[in-house]
Amino acid sequence: MTEYEYNYPLYRPPSEAYSLIIQATLGCSQNKCTFCSMYKGKKFTIKPLEQIKEEIDFFRKHIRKVQRIFIADGDALIIPMKILKEIFLYINERFPEAERISIYGSPKSILLKSDEELKELHNLGLKLVYLGVESGSDKVLSYVKKGADRREIIEAGKKIKKAGISLSVTAIAGLGGKENSNEHALLTADFVSHINPDYFGILSLMIEEGTELYNEYHQGKFKPLSNVEILEEIKLIIENTNVIEKCIFRSNHASNYVPLRGVLPDDKENIIEAINYAVKNNRMKKDSLRAL
Ligand code: SF4
Repeated sequence: MTEYEYNYPLYRPPSEAYSLIIQATLGCSQNKCTFCSMYKGKKFTIKPLEQIKEEIDFFRKHIRKVQRIFIADGDALIIPMKILKEIFLYINERFPEAERISIYGSPKSILLKSDEELKELHNLGLKLVYLGVESGSDKVLSYVKKGADRREIIEAGKKIKKAGISLSVTAIAGLGGKENSNEHALLTADFVSHINPDYFGILSLMIEEGTELYNEYHQGKFKPLSNVEILEEIKLIIENTNVIEKCIFRSNHASNYVPLRGVLPDDKENIIEAINYAVKNNRMKKDSLRAL
């Protein structure tokens, strides 16, 4: 292998900006969520193990030191355990200096792994799993075709934590539209309080062309929230989130109208105040980022 090119589009969480990305799968095994355009052009594929090893060899040859590794694409944890274990073993062999391996996991891919398998992956260096929760409300989850319900997502989150792996969850403000905003906010907060993830991120809904949600919006079936309503929804989520252990909160993605960050539960009041200030003084980004 003399050259390497990722299969684009390639996504990774913002906190993996400096990580080596090993693209073990292409696309997302679920690929049905009505708001998501990320992998619509990709057929879900698990690369052959030999190819993944060759790619790891290529990176080893060209990169002197790697601290963090992220395994892509959208739901790489779905890789059957036998192959996934080989990938982790090979990463350990070729990058013994790496301090952390992380991965995106869907509720289904987590639930398909046993507690022992997750512990084994943790022992092999899996330190962080990113779980897109989107909402704590079954009504919203079913409406956006998430492919998992609240009970399954709670079980998946708890399983990751039980294995000693750090858990990062994200929800999407505005996903319930005007109709389900209250339920979406309260049940998402309740969900986060139940799981107490290590990291909690809130994105703001962007309605993207090419998605089912985009069509529903244009047919008048989905009524989106305004930027102020989205912020009020984030406030409601934070007000009702009661975690006991430290949870790093971020809502500073490009989709968000006001950058928010803090550590829950200690910074709860500061975050709420920051939202109140932004709304009162009109310190918000406009709707320019929303493909309406
Ligand atoms: S599981 Fe995630 S990546 Fe896959 S379609 Fe849904 S939102 Fe998109």
